[in-house]
Amino acid sequence: MITHSECIFCQIIAGEKPAEILYEDPFTLALLDIRQPKIGGHVLVIPREHIENMHALPEALFEPMVRTTKLVTDAVKAAIGCSGINHLIANGKSAGQTVFHLHIHIFPRNSRLGLINYYLRSFLLRRNPGAEELARMAEPIRKKISDMSGK
Ligand code: AMP
Ligand code: ZN
Repeated sequence: MITHSECIFCQIIAGEKPAEILYEDPFTLALLDIRQPKIGGHVLVIPREHIENMHALPEALFEPMVRTTKLVTDAVKAAIGCSGINHLIANGKSAGQTVFHLHIHIFPRNSRLGLINYYLRSFLLRRNPGAEELARMAEPIRKKISDMSGK
């Protein structure tokens, strides 16, 4: 397994940094993003192995990554009752990638303005949830994932 000591997601996987982990299996994890839209439920699906982005993803991880993304997407929708969800992957700096460990964003939406408000709150106003709010947000999503996966 390749891990990078400098990588925040590898540090989370190793238990060296805190995170609200919602799901894990031998190949993948799902965790709450530290930046959230007002409705919450912004989750990242990552491979356990340090893989820089989609270009480096080995075939053996295609199915595990999609399986986890599908499970978490359904669970987020059921848990927070949003009307839409975006998936996003940034590959490379120019595409907006800031953490160089592959991650699929699962981003709930109730309106077309949801994304603009997210950027305003997160990046301009820096109004991001604290640890307690993230823990509260994680609970119902974790429960839905557990119900849906039978784990
Ligand atoms: P990207 O810009 O597509 O590479 O996305 C990186 C994402 O990782 C951003 O949405 C960040 O808010 C998120 N992020 C950065 N550090 C952490 C962390 N310690 N725990 C959870 N999410 C993080
Ligand atoms: Zn990593």
